[in-house]
Amino acid sequence: MDYLRAVLNNDKKSEKQHLQNLVKIGKKLNRNVNTYEKELSKLASIDTTSKKTTIKKTTPKKSTTTYKNSAFNISKVTVEENQIIIDFKHYIKKDYIHYSEEKINGKYYDIFDFDGRFEDASPTKLVMNGVDRIRITQHKYRTLRIELINSFNLKAIYIINKKRVIIKILNRKIEKTNNSKAIPKIQNNKDKVIVIDPGHGGKDSGAIGTKKRYEKNTVLTVAKHLYYDLKKRGYTVYLTRNKDKFIELRDRTKFANRKNADIFISIHANAVPKSQWEKAKGIETFFLSPARSSRAKRIAAIENKTDMSTMNNSSQNALLTILNQSKITASQKLGIDIHQNLLYSARKKYKDIEDGGVREGPFWVLVGAQMPSILIEIGYITNSTEGRRLFETSYQRLLANGIANGVDSYFAKNQ
Ligand SMILES: [Zn+2]
Repeated sequence: MDYLRAVLNNDKKSEKQHLQNLVKIGKKLNRNVNTYEKELSKLASIDTTSKKTTIKKTTPKKSTTTYKNSAFNISKVTVEENQIIIDFKHYIKKDYIHYSEEKINGKYYDIFDFDGRFEDASPTKLVMNGVDRIRITQHKYRTLRIELINSFNLKAIYIINKKRVIIKILNRKIEKTNNSKAIPKIQNNKDKVIVIDPGHGGKDSGAIGTKKRYEKNTVLTVAKHLYYDLKKRGYTVYLTRNKDKFIELRDRTKFANRKNADIFISIHANAVPKSQWEKAKGIETFFLSPARSSRAKRIAAIENKTDMSTMNNSSQNALLTILNQSKITASQKLGIDIHQNLLYSARKKYKDIEDGGVREGPFWVLVGAQMPSILIEIGYITNSTEGRRLFETSYQRLLANGIANGVDSYFAKNQ
């Protein structure tokens, strides 16, 4: 419905055009077009008023520029670190993006359609390692299309982060290298130290779902799967707890610092009040920052509960504000790598898993860590479907496998 779209976008000019068409066609078909005619006369009057004002102010040029700019809601499309970054001028919802795959003449097309306009679509050239060709076009008036075209079936995914969409590929064509220094991966991994932190434990059960499902139990099982998966890949791995035991939040990161860990991964399950049980679901990954969005605050408040009493509010804030920016960036990178792989892996079997995104939040358990650190909420224990899945071995294994793939991907880029 182009007319509706024009109305929604507050695009008076095309709204008027579409209305005129509707009236014309309606009259031909002997339909009642009164409502459309009324709307049209309203629009006509707006038009004249604005014209008058423009003349008075004698700034017609400026007003056209403003209109033009506001129609282009995508400000930038670039490739950074082998990922396509699409920056919008506003926050993005999931339904602004439509993804599809096609095979045409033996070529595989990964097609991303964005609800938006980008002024520089045609001059923009995008190149990524492992992708034969990328085409970017203003496909329709309000649809920017990005196509990844390949001779083999690419695994491409996207993630939404506020006003930004990131397209990433998970597999690449293997390129032969003559580099004699290349050491088999398994040897490299040994000096990478990973600390896995299953949340809660002992007297602290964490979130509680129906049927006595405790967060502390599912996160411990997933952490153990992850432990063995990473061990198999040759990493040096430690668990902050391997049984149902209580540990203070600050002791978890102290442990990681003592082990000289390269990364710290805290595993949790999410929960909401009963009225939202069936609505709230999905996987979310957090990295530590002073961010104080109400959503991050709410989840952080639940996870922080055990240890908050030991420090007053102002010293908490002081600690959060002196966070090292480079550590925040590294943690965000780690979060993105793990989150994408986690979703990709889990969706192999559980296709409906919602992408809660990579977010920032003031998580106390991450504060003392001297290495990139993230906290993963592997699902909502309070949701009936996810609560059940969180205790299914196949779900737990896929989660662990996805996280381990994310660790591989992170270290491949950040040696
Ligand atoms: Zn938790």
